[in-house]
Amino acid sequence: MFSKLKAAISWRHGVQLLFAIMVGYIGIDFLLFINQLTNQSTTFISRPPGVEAFLPLSALVGLRAWLATGIFDSVHPAGLVIFLLIVLTSLLFKRTFCSWICPIGTLSEGLGKIGRTIFGRNFQLPGWLDYILRSLKYLLLLLFLVAIFWGMSGTDAVSFVQSPYNRMSDVMMLEFMEHLSVTGISVIGILALLTIVFENFWCRYLCPYGALLGLFSFLSPFKITRNQETCIQCGKCTKSCPNRITVDLQTRVFSPECTGCLNCVQQCPVQNTLRFKVARGKKILSLPYLTLVILSLWFLVIVFAKATGHWGSNMTLETYKQLLLMI
Ligand code: SF4
Ligand code: SF4
Repeated sequence: MFSKLKAAISWRHGVQLLFAIMVGYIGIDFLLFINQLTNQSTTFISRPPGVEAFLPLSALVGLRAWLATGIFDSVHPAGLVIFLLIVLTSLLFKRTFCSWICPIGTLSEGLGKIGRTIFGRNFQLPGWLDYILRSLKYLLLLLFLVAIFWGMSGTDAVSFVQSPYNRMSDVMMLEFMEHLSVTGISVIGILALLTIVFENFWCRYLCPYGALLGLFSFLSPFKITRNQETCIQCGKCTKSCPNRITVDLQTRVFSPECTGCLNCVQQCPVQNTLRFKVARGKKILSLPYLTLVILSLWFLVIVFAKATGHWGSNMTLETYKQLLLMI
């Protein structure tokens, strides 16, 4: 049992580590790219398109412009591809992006563990407050969706995509991170502290991205499914769920809070009682298969985007240099 648990944990954590390393690598690469432009260096480091994964609002506007005009975002195409890929992942395999890939999710998980080490457990807000706060992320999502899909015309969206502001949004994000104000540091610090005390505070209450993926995840054919016949009602699944889902009371977990982490499956002491599967079919995703499927999906979509010219930005180095002078 212990060896099974240990092996199972390593699959998801391995994927988290892989993506965390990639994010670190992309961040350093982008920093070197910008430094080379500002220092007029002669060495050539190309801009890593993956940095656009951190521009979700730009991707949403890019989507709005694409739907209105049929023209795919050529300024931050990788951002739109990654956004669509994340949506696709949620449509197929619940919010696995949150618990397997997202660097903020990985960080939150780590902070939650620190909390358990310090206090022996993570605290929980009272049910009524938890319910109210959980709606915040949907409100934030609604604000963004209304502003972009209702408040903006297709022409506005195209203008935004082509604007100097959007073209430089990755650089401005870097600037923001490099020169965090006291307010910025305080907000991040408070959120980190809250996440140490209350597991997944940011993801559970405030992340509009998670809210959006939760809505798409309703359609996922794969869901945590409990076999009532073999379940011994030990409650270990519920206890292990980082998202406070009462797995032992459900036959299928429809909750938009389920991030497909499979902690519950790992903890279940009765073999084949909890599974990540399609409703009545025999298709079951174990941790190794889910790992393989997630990595293959990401790899194939990115290779496809590169092969079809939907990955690299159309911005030239000259444009970059000129726009940098304006910041
Ligand atoms: S423990 Fe199970 S129910 Fe809870 S989030 Fe993870 S996969 Fe979903
Ligand atoms: S851990 Fe398994 S056996 Fe225990 S309550 Fe959950 S589904 Fe039933």
